[in-house]
Amino acid sequence: MTQQVCGVCGHPCRAAFRAPQPEIAPDLDMRPGEPARSTLRDWIQVCSSCAAAAPALADLPAAAGPVVKSDEYRLLSTTSLEETLPFRRWALICERLGDRAQQAEALLQAAWAADDAAAMTEAATLRGAVAGLWADTTDVETGLRRLDVMRRAGMFEQGEAWAAELAARQPDELARAIVGFQRARIAGRDIGRHLISSALPPPAHAPHVSHGKRATTGFWSRLFRK
Ligand SMILES: [Zn+2]
Repeated sequence: MTQQVCGVCGHPCRAAFRAPQPEIAPDLDMRPGEPARSTLRDWIQVCSSCAAAAPALADLPAAAGPVVKSDEYRLLSTTSLEETLPFRRWALICERLGDRAQQAEALLQAAWAADDAAAMTEAATLRGAVAGLWADTTDVETGLRRLDVMRRAGMFEQGEAWAAELAARQPDELARAIVGFQRARIAGRDIGRHLISSALPPPAHAPHVSHGKRATTGFWSRLFRK
């Protein structure tokens, strides 16, 4: 196998990390269950030479170079919680390369890292940024994840308004169950973490899971994957 190198500076780097398959249900924001969950810190590689950050340094395009060398990128190391830094760096690269979807995932992962470091304010700030990036989503899964992100950021009024909007989109039974669960948590001013399984009706009451709307099939199949 040939030695992999950083796409920005050419310094040798490791092969990208591959997280183990989760065996436990994900959180409502789709943070995977264990054993994948606790490998979060391995998800982003940081180049020891140029400080580029990405899930796979070897896959970084040359266009990431100017971002990595920018003042804003370097300043992140002085303004960010250390545990969130790799994810924030990757998020900035995604932003500058025009990949909003990946930027949002990176910032949500940064929020999870902040959760793990018990940095509540930082986690809420990051979730607020994710909610903003997902503000105009029409995707069912992303819409449900945004609802959880808002609730966990303490954005209760905006979260309730978003829940009402999702409910008006006539979601399928499982999505309705999740929206209902979130609205009850919002009413209780609960910013805690919940497993997606706790929001779903018992399997016996959801016999047609596999016949769900096409748009959500991948989402649900991932939930019920063993
Ligand atoms: Zn490098």
